Amino acid sequence: MASNLISKLPAVGTTIFTTMSALAVEYNAVNLGQGFPDYSMSEELISLVNQAMKDDNNQYAPVSGWIPLRESIAEKIELLYTTSINPDTEITITPGGTYAIYTALTSIINSGDEVIIFEPAYDSYIPNIEINGGRVVPLLLSFPDYKIDWVAVKNAITTKTKAIIINSPHNPTGSVLSKEDINQLRSVVEGTNIIIISDEVYEHIIFDGVAHQSILRYPDLLERSFVCFSLGKVYNCTGWKLGYCVAPPSLTKEFRKVHQFNAFSCFTPAQVALSSFLKNKEAFISLSAIMQEKRDYFKQLMTSSRFSLLESGGSYFICAKYNRISEEGDKDFAIRLTKDFRVATIPVSHFYHNGQDHHVLRFCFSKKKETLELAAERLSLI
Ligand code: PMP
Ligand code: GLN
Repeated sequence: MASNLISKLPAVGTTIFTTMSALAVEYNAVNLGQGFPDYSMSEELISLVNQAMKDDNNQYAPVSGWIPLRESIAEKIELLYTTSINPDTEITITPGGTYAIYTALTSIINSGDEVIIFEPAYDSYIPNIEINGGRVVPLLLSFPDYKIDWVAVKNAITTKTKAIIINSPHNPTGSVLSKEDINQLRSVVEGTNIIIISDEVYEHIIFDGVAHQSILRYPDLLERSFVCFSLGKVYNCTGWKLGYCVAPPSLTKEFRKVHQFNAFSCFTPAQVALSSFLKNKEAFISLSAIMQEKRDYFKQLMTSSRFSLLESGGSYFICAKYNRISEEGDKDFAIRLTKDFRVATIPVSHFYHNGQDHHVLRFCFSKKKETLELAAERLSLI
């Protein structure tokens, strides 16, 4: 490293997802660590991308995204949340949900601004805030049900609070915000200029008949929000890195200023393909039931192990305590599990700025039945 280079992210190393996936490969382990499906995506969608390329849709898309795709997204929002969104001024297509969150934060944070996050928190939030000169205000979700303490949120608000990041369904825990949480959020931000960044990448992976409390349902909150989505999560193609951000025109304008000098635009053929594929409601509406079946199957398989599974109301993930097995720290335990029992997981302490360790691992169940069976068989040996 050049000797005059001062790292902008001195505390940051390689992400836990990369680390555990690499370890899984090294030890030929079943990978229930990094969140991605190990089964194929829709053949029809692949054909549509191929067709889009053959039809010569291979040049830059507009900065804000392929217009018919934005129109299809607006139709989907209207259908799901009965909210009317202007595709021209309120939707921006992005290279993934992470990018949308980063761009939202970059658009609004000035040096010294405070951003409230809830821990355990998805690992990109803290570096995203800090690289922009913001100050992270981490609040704890309760354990083991991972709920927000709204009194603590009220107490944490200062004149410098610029934003609050919420995430439902939640990664890593699978907890879900209720309507009551949304009402609490409303009362916290009322009369302030606080901006909400709502990470809703698991919008279509929510279980037990519970309705997703999208910020898109609430116009009074939406007017101060960036709401971030991931199409990779909806269509089993996380490697496509395609998502979008919905925000009111004034926030979208700032968002696009940053976006146009970063990615500028996203992969055109996928946008063309999705603009028609998104009209198939069944494909996104059926996702919750498919994933719920996987969650339930994994839970049932794991009854033969000594892990104690926690609740998961949505997302790709379910967490488990292992206090009946070991007193090791979760990182050491996750490494040993990968090396000796050949199942990779994610240690949840990684999602706390101070490494708080409740001895909990995260398992990803968006996998084939055979994968879940093999993992559970091995996990039952410990
Ligand atoms: N937020 C959360 C909570 C996630 O779990 C993920 C990805 N798994 C993302 C954002 C990013 O999504 P994308 O891959 O579309 O960038
Ligand atoms: N979001 C995925 C997870 O939680 C990982 C994505 C990544 O590796 N950046 O597992």
